[in-house]
Amino acid sequence: MAGLTPVADALARVLEGAVPLPEEWVPIGSADGRILSRALASRRTQPPSDMSSMDGYAVRAADLPATLPVAGEAAAGRSFAGSMPGGTTIRIFTGAEIPDGADAVVIQEDVSRSGDMVTFRDRPASGQFIRRKGLDFAEGAPALAAGTRIEPRSLALAAAMNHATVPVHRRPRVAILSTGDELVEPGAEPGPGQIVSSNALALAAIVRREGGDATLLGIVPDRLDATLAAVRHARAERHDILVTSGGASVGEHDLMRQVIAEEGAEPSFWKIAMRPGKPLMMANLSGMRLLGLPGNPVASFVCATLFLSPLMRRLAGRTDILPLEEGAVLGVALGANDHRQDYLRASLIESNGKLVATPFPIQDSSMIRVLAEAEALIVRAPHASAAQAGEPCRIIRLAR
Ligand code: AMP
Ligand code: MG
Repeated sequence: MAGLTPVADALARVLEGAVPLPEEWVPIGSADGRILSRALASRRTQPPSDMSSMDGYAVRAADLPATLPVAGEAAAGRSFAGSMPGGTTIRIFTGAEIPDGADAVVIQEDVSRSGDMVTFRDRPASGQFIRRKGLDFAEGAPALAAGTRIEPRSLALAAAMNHATVPVHRRPRVAILSTGDELVEPGAEPGPGQIVSSNALALAAIVRREGGDATLLGIVPDRLDATLAAVRHARAERHDILVTSGGASVGEHDLMRQVIAEEGAEPSFWKIAMRPGKPLMMANLSGMRLLGLPGNPVASFVCATLFLSPLMRRLAGRTDILPLEEGAVLGVALGANDHRQDYLRASLIESNGKLVATPFPIQDSSMIRVLAEAEALIVRAPHASAAQAGEPCRIIRLAR
């Protein structure tokens, strides 16, 4: 359809020139959720020497079967000093260094002990219950790639590799502005025709989940001076992104264009071939990107998912920036689609090992309750043909 920009083209434009933010070093204890700016190699070898993986007795396999005297003890952090004398055994515990001279561990359940004498009935394989030096990782080996998101498991690995600080990308600083004469803050008493502003809080929560710093700039009326002041404030505070919601109507468009012109830039407005959320605005104010989302709550959320999250991930240094699409099957029949890519709010259930996505009957882009209840967006390509219940579809899962 003439004049409508495909979603992928709009995303490419939003990402144009976006590169990961500069590096900084943070203590490992505060690195959760951050993105590594370079690969981390291990600073040590783990295990640092051959270790027992069981509680039992360290032996020389070739000595067995036999009854042997206990010559000493080795526990985690308390090694047996010296070599194990020939014809003896060493009491050993999980995580203890294997004494020199021993080459296997027999678990305590498989021996009989009387005083200091231990009877072994069978000969173990050499190496039994021994974790070899370097089994987990070796010093110098790259173990976490640049672009990795630090989460509980990678955090444990970085710590085990003895990194007290880690190199990460600076977190995106994102300001959020609501525009509209009709808006009041949650908790205020709306006058006639007014509504409570909800988009900004949702956007701030998305920004934080994407690892960014969110600053709420509040509500501005549809006036040049107020909007310009808010944009200047966001620039002065050195934000990487200013996200606005609202301002999609024709008069408000012109207002935004004027504001951005005052700041010496040229905004791009696109009508995107998607539903919900047709209008999108983008401007580059030397160092700060201004992303203008539509005011309709569902459109604002879907556009944030499709455009703001990937932009933030790119700035944060992530390599996986697109919303994850999965396969499911339709719970109901759908008619043929028109020229716009659809993002249908849907419920999700598992039935006979299949994910079944069923769109809510009313898809009005103002309906926040339906959005809050939805578990997925069904993605329908432009001009998709009619589909029966049970046919495959693509979904984006909505995080709870
Ligand atoms: P607009 O994009 O400004 O034309 O707004 C489209 C619709 O979204 C209108 O019904 C607005 O009242 C509504 N809207 C705009 N901003 C917000 C907001 N921050 N929270 C909730 N609804 C909004
Ligand atoms: Mg408005």
